[in-house]
Amino acid sequence: MVYDPKSRVAEEFINHDEILDTLRYAEDHKNDLQLIGNILKKAATFKGMTHREAAVLMACTDPEVNKRIQETAIRVKEHIYGSRIVLFAPLYLSNYCINGCVYCPYHAKNKNIVRKRLEQDDVHREVVALQDLGHKRLLLEFGEHPKYAPIEYVLDCIKTVYSTKHKNGAIRRVNINIAATTVENYRKLHEAEIGTYQLFQETYHKENYEKLHPKGPKSDYAYHTEAHDRAMEGGIDDVGLGVLFGLNYYRYDLIGLLMHAEHLEAVWGVGPHTISVPRICPADDINPAEFTNAVPDETFLKIVALIRLAVPYTGMIMSTRESSRVRAEALKLGISQISGGSKTTVGGYSATEAEQMENTAQFDTSDRRTLDEVVQWLLENKYLPSFCTACYRAGRTGDRFMEYAKTGEIAMYCQANAVMTLKEYLCDYASEKTVQSGEKVIELEIPKINHEKVRLSSVKRLKRIEEGERDFRY
Ligand code: SF4
Ligand code: SF4
Repeated sequence: MVYDPKSRVAEEFINHDEILDTLRYAEDHKNDLQLIGNILKKAATFKGMTHREAAVLMACTDPEVNKRIQETAIRVKEHIYGSRIVLFAPLYLSNYCINGCVYCPYHAKNKNIVRKRLEQDDVHREVVALQDLGHKRLLLEFGEHPKYAPIEYVLDCIKTVYSTKHKNGAIRRVNINIAATTVENYRKLHEAEIGTYQLFQETYHKENYEKLHPKGPKSDYAYHTEAHDRAMEGGIDDVGLGVLFGLNYYRYDLIGLLMHAEHLEAVWGVGPHTISVPRICPADDINPAEFTNAVPDETFLKIVALIRLAVPYTGMIMSTRESSRVRAEALKLGISQISGGSKTTVGGYSATEAEQMENTAQFDTSDRRTLDEVVQWLLENKYLPSFCTACYRAGRTGDRFMEYAKTGEIAMYCQANAVMTLKEYLCDYASEKTVQSGEKVIELEIPKINHEKVRLSSVKRLKRIEEGERDFRY
């Protein structure tokens, strides 16, 4: 197999020999300070980094260089994303699964967990509970099962989510995480108006991938790896990538991840909309100690910084699995979206106490704070929590989104939308303490809307939100 980023064949665009060669190249150049200086200079101007360049920085252990990597990532993050952090919640709909992923408690052989699928009434109840917390953006999660979670079920759930309106609540963007599927099914998801289609690769190392996925359709490495291309062929403009760090040698997977981004850019003219950075963590029937590739916190944070530098315009998502300390550091270095107040159980948002005790969770959540506590914490740390969902509703997806992002024009929309959606949250859902901190942050953030007309009209809209109007957006 020959490396070819434009190929549609998995083993050509994620080419094992190219990754091994890149690892060798990185070892050979990890002390080449001139090369490293040039890479960082380029990255500081938001031009990104190739997988080879990122690998060299990853291999470098010089504390001075590592400090410069951090500082540059912080500057790039601040320039493109300001202090905005977008909030979302995962919604688990069904945990029946026919796959055998050895790191996931939903794997078919696990008899300890209670299997559950939400019917549409239950979905409605969950969405009401999520709206009452203040969420506007959801990530729907399903195990893979032809009987319990066929595409028709997924489509029904999307319909229920979008059509549920409770008080001032509304879910305005539904992102989807389902197993690799056909172009035809992706087309159906596109027609159902999903936001981003997310599919994590878990690991790009084919041999290890096959060991980690011994059973079920997911064991087909090529079908899984080529799924984002099929999604784009089906009309979905925004796709999300992710690696489950800890399954395999992290440097290999970081290179694979960046090659995947380069491939999407080469074939479709637009890279991934988001990259997620989950790490293996404890769960029922899963002991992280069995995974010898565990990634320590400092290495994990360096990975976050390097992804930020390599793909500056790609949103980066961190889940509830991380502790609040790691979250705080990662936010500075590059994360632009986090989940808040998440439940990783099926039906967890509206569950009774007895149901809460049922063992249906996919993962332990290290961060158990409520959404209001997460919002309050962000505000105290001078971040601007955002519930914005404007882009795909305004048709800014795929290459159109990237045009706005790369010219920097998107920042004015993001900033104005963040301020207005935070205001909605404060009016409808926040605790007294959060209202007080939120109003102060809004005052500080309004002047940062760098387009006078948009700034002035945002101020007027804030007043109208106070008077009861909702859903303004740019
Ligand atoms: Fe099923 Fe996904 Fe868990 Fe694998 S990771 S067992 S496909 S739910
Ligand atoms: Fe995201 Fe677009 Fe909203 Fe900015 S304006 S936060 S890019 S949805």
